[in-house]
Amino acid sequence: MAHTPAPLRFEHDALAQRIVLAPGAARESLGREIAAVGGTRVLLVVSEAEADLGARLTADLGPDVTVVATFTGVRPHVPVEVAEAARELARSSGADVVVPVGGGSTTGTAKAVTLTEHLPIVAVPTTYAGSEATPVWGLTEHHRKTTGTDPVVLPRTIVYDPELTMTLPVGLSVSSGLNALAHCVDSLWAPKADPINAAIATEGIRALAAGLPAVVADAGDVEARDRCLYGAYLSAASFASAGSGLHHKICHVLGGAHDLPHADTHAVVLPHVLAFNAAAAPEAARRIAEALGADDALDGLLALTRGLGAPDNLRDLGMPEDAIATDAQAVVDAAPPSNPRPVRAEDVERLLRTAWAGQAPTADIEERR
Ligand code: NAD
Repeated sequence: MAHTPAPLRFEHDALAQRIVLAPGAARESLGREIAAVGGTRVLLVVSEAEADLGARLTADLGPDVTVVATFTGVRPHVPVEVAEAARELARSSGADVVVPVGGGSTTGTAKAVTLTEHLPIVAVPTTYAGSEATPVWGLTEHHRKTTGTDPVVLPRTIVYDPELTMTLPVGLSVSSGLNALAHCVDSLWAPKADPINAAIATEGIRALAAGLPAVVADAGDVEARDRCLYGAYLSAASFASAGSGLHHKICHVLGGAHDLPHADTHAVVLPHVLAFNAAAAPEAARRIAEALGADDALDGLLALTRGLGAPDNLRDLGMPEDAIATDAQAVVDAAPPSNPRPVRAEDVERLLRTAWAGQAPTADIEERR
């Protein structure tokens, strides 16, 4: 059936960033990119696990750029004491630019520095989390994660180098990539969804749906790694523009309450939110299906996630069953009013129970009639 596009009426703020993507880009052009934002004294932010990689990439940044300090105390979800230690190092070393080399936790630590120290960031991502393309920061205190948006934390430049992701284990590539896919899907019904971020999100779904199965087939496939990084950027750009939809609110509540692994939680929850929203968001469902090359959005997503061997239940991730009702209420309190379907506690409880047990995602619409 021919699809009739809706009339165009929107307001869209585009984010200004320079994005470089090429195999070997971090090795070959990082120094140049740092100098281009006016950086001369680098605070390298890197986790212990990526410390050697960070040191190698920054060993020779050219005549005008030097690493003056390295912060390796990165921890997931950026605890406030970690942020404060990194800021102190930035101040005491006289750094004038922050260069995170690593995943979302590392980029998040660099953002925490910049939030107070206002230094430019040149980000070198090594996962598909996408934090590098958003102005969103997050800090955790007493097991509670606070997030905020501030244009100052948006990295000025991103250097995507697929060679750096070759060591990312297939399981982590899949969960991180599905986290990115979740950004794309959720963007389609998020509070500030518009035709531009929908186009970005749709291309992101296409790129990830092509790249991730190819990475699973051959973890050393550079072109597949390219597609995944490209998809990761698009996912974050669409999410940064459209805002957090229901899916992210659910993952945020679960992650914060039970310290669940971030990316795996996204991988499990996404099909359930899609099942919940699809009938009430036909244009989003059409786009998702088309981008996945499927007749139906949910069928396409499930075929992809199952083919990738993605985790499919919250129980195995460590979520306690007796927390479901409390979590459901917290989700209702946080749910965006713009969600295409009303978000009621009993619906979320059913959704969480289904996701917890790893049962087939359902819209449960029949039951309601
Ligand atoms: P992560 O940064 O914690 O990294 C996960 C693991 O992967 C770590 O053990 C790390 O050492 C390892 N790793 C990273 N790169 C590797 C590589 N190339 N090879 C081998 N191992 C590698 O996790 P993540 O999934 O990248 O990021 C998750 C965090 O990012 C969460 O805290 C999430 O809230 C945040 N995030 C923030 C935004 C935002 O806009 N602010 C967006 C997305 C995610």
